[in-house]
Parts: sequence; C-alpha cells; structure tokens
Amino acid sequence: MKNEDIRKQMIATCIFMNERGINQGTSGNISVRVDGGFLITPSGVPYDEMKPADIVTMKLDASHQGPRKPSTEWRFHRDIMEKKKEVGAVIHLHSMFCTSLSMLRREIPAVHYMIAAAGGPTVPCVPYVTWGTQELADYIVGALQDRHACLLSNHGMVCIGPTLKKAAWLAVEIETLAAQYWRALQIGVPHILPDDEIGRVMEKFKSYGQVKEKRAPSCC
Ligand code: 13P
Ligand code: ZN
Repeated sequence: MKNEDIRKQMIATCIFMNERGINQGTSGNISVRVDGGFLITPSGVPYDEMKPADIVTMKLDASHQGPRKPSTEWRFHRDIMEKKKEVGAVIHLHSMFCTSLSMLRREIPAVHYMIAAAGGPTVPCVPYVTWGTQELADYIVGALQDRHACLLSNHGMVCIGPTLKKAAWLAVEIETLAAQYWRALQIGVPHILPDDEIGRVMEKFKSYGQVKEKRAPSCC
C-alpha cells in the first residue's frame, strides 16, 4: 500500500474507533510499520481534524519527520515495532470496559473462548505508571511477549496485529470481552475456562474461516 493510503487508512481507523464508541476525544493512538520505521498519529490532534500530512514518520532510533509532534506514547509503539518484527500495527485505546477493568487492576481471564484471539488464556493488566514513559513501554513490551493485547492500569489497553485491519478487529474483540466479563461480574462469579481448552481454541483458530481470505483470528 502507498504511504499516503496508509495515512488515510490510519485516520479512517481512528474515526471508526471513535464512532464505534471504543475511544473518545484525542485519547489513544495508532502506529503502522513502513519501510525504515513506522507511521504514528500526532499528539493531541482531534481525529476528525487529522490530515494525512499530520501523521508523523518515525524511525526506530526515535528520530521523526513532519510538521507535527508524534504521539506522546511513541516509546511503546517504537519498542513493540523493534522487538516484535511480526507486528504491522499497534493500537492504544481508552475504551470504556477495558479501562474500567484496568481501574480495578484486574486482568481479563478466560471467561469466553474468544480470549484465544489475545494469544493466550488471559489479557494481562500491567502496573500503573505515568503515560508516555519508558517504564510504561517496558511493561507493555513485557506483557506482549506472548500476548496480542494487554490492559494498562488506570489508563486503557494496547493491542497489536500483523495489519491495521486485524489490530482494529482485535481491539473490538477485546473491548467486547471486557464488556461481557464486566456484565457477568454484576450478577455472579463467572466460570473460567482451563488453559488447555484455550490451547485447543488457538489451534482451531488456525484453520477458522475462509482460509483464502486469511480471516482467522490467529493474528500474530
Ligand atoms: P497522544 O495524543 O499524545 O497520542 O496521547 C493520548 C494518550 O492516550 C496518551 O496515553
Ligand atoms: Zn493513553
């Protein structure tokens, strides 16, 4: 895809997430890998005002080009791109249910088999540290070693995918899971599926859907 088209796709994804109700205001940020580094959303620019030229080009050495400052969370975007070569896109959100659970500093357990889309039997919750810091980036990279998503205490969530489309799909799935878990907690104690069942589901995902379209949620 051409660089200009990736920029347009990033803005369209930001607008989609706000309209879908999984993000709001200028919260959250997106990055997409390109040759020599990655593209990242600018800091504090409302998504409906964002133009392709506002998207910042960054290299893995953290140097950047363009008229705008990169997202204040460039450190974890950069570190994920550097350490996880299979990742093509990173999404960070302050979505309602993931963020509510993160306030309880509670991971999402295997309350539904769809947790397998996160790469394992939990969506872990990293400790609270100030936004935009290297410490936060270090915690996120640690949590994503064997997962495709994590919660950030008192802050939000991060998810990854091989493409922006798949990362956005996963963001919606993880937020749905958080909402379902939250609802179940209102009326009882949810049953947790055992780890070996989540292993079986992860295997099944590898051949799920129309193989030609590669829609299987075994995303990274
Ligand atoms: P940016 O506008 O700098 O991307 O910050 C938003 C955010 O969510 C910080 O955690
Ligand atoms: Zn944030």
